[in-house]
Amino acid sequence: MGYSKDIYEQAMKTLSERRTEETLRCDERKQAFFGQYPRAREIENELTSTAITAAKAVLHGRNTKEALTKLRENNKALQKELQTLLSEAGLPQDYLEPHYQCSKCRDEGFVDGKMCGCLKVLMRTEACRKLNQQTPLSLSTFESFDLKYYSDTPENGQKNSPRQHMEQVFQYCKNYAENFSMQSPSLLFRGGTGLSKTHLSLAVANVVIQKGYGVVYDSVHNIMGTLERERFGKETAPDDTSRLLMECDLLILDDLGTEFSTSFVTASIYNLINTRLMAHRPTIISTNLTLPELEKRYTERFVSRIIGHYVRLPFYGRDVRQQKAAERYYHKARPDETNP
Ligand SMILES: [Zn+2]
Repeated sequence: MGYSKDIYEQAMKTLSERRTEETLRCDERKQAFFGQYPRAREIENELTSTAITAAKAVLHGRNTKEALTKLRENNKALQKELQTLLSEAGLPQDYLEPHYQCSKCRDEGFVDGKMCGCLKVLMRTEACRKLNQQTPLSLSTFESFDLKYYSDTPENGQKNSPRQHMEQVFQYCKNYAENFSMQSPSLLFRGGTGLSKTHLSLAVANVVIQKGYGVVYDSVHNIMGTLERERFGKETAPDDTSRLLMECDLLILDDLGTEFSTSFVTASIYNLINTRLMAHRPTIISTNLTLPELEKRYTERFVSRIIGHYVRLPFYGRDVRQQKAAERYYHKARPDETNP
């Protein structure tokens, strides 16, 4: 998958920071250990000078074989002594070595000239982050979700009140985010305007991003605009949004049904949903439309994919945005009471 140069550079910078940090941590471990076991410092110095002596012997070429065998034996004995000291201290044998996050490439990003999987993951995460830049993700968290806006009186013959119901939805989303994996199901958030579908989907995104997954979040309206520009525009997009949409670990499509409807859009949405299902990549869709409305607007085939494979979470209650706006108005209109 093609990424732009700055995404590659940002990912390499992250790797370089990881190496620097681990070098520092490794040095701290060494200094602390040498403080307790001065003999360990001597061994370390001897090992370094052994390496220099070996290099010199090779360089001068005198009795090289004999000299090298002797050095190697000496080296082995020193290593063994060091391991014994570490065991005595109850520390693992690799305690004085750097612990890289990726043992395959030692956080270099390449193995034998080939790009390592860890660098690919970093670039994908970075590309997702760049795509989400316009979204104020940090504002919508589980902590800032308030159940007080949902009535505690059951309505329309329901057994549970909207608040009880939304508490279950909230818990489901929280567990979903905390335990997210590539085996997690896809979700459909369905309900009227202003019931915090966006808030909860962003809260899920926040947690899943922190777990290190590549998450793309956007409204269907924006995504389709980008896809149309990529498909019909003269320039090819450097970050290849359509592939990122297919390949990101979690895709969150907000407000399905508000985008401008064309045959290209309908086909693209079906293709996106279907490809991700086949590849076992979770998607969260939020929509105001009912299943019959979705079927009318998209296709029966599309809705049957949703019914067969998505966990559907209905959202109930009164428009939270309107209630918040009313609260703000109330506080503004009566400053004397809030500011005596
Ligand atoms: Zn690696």
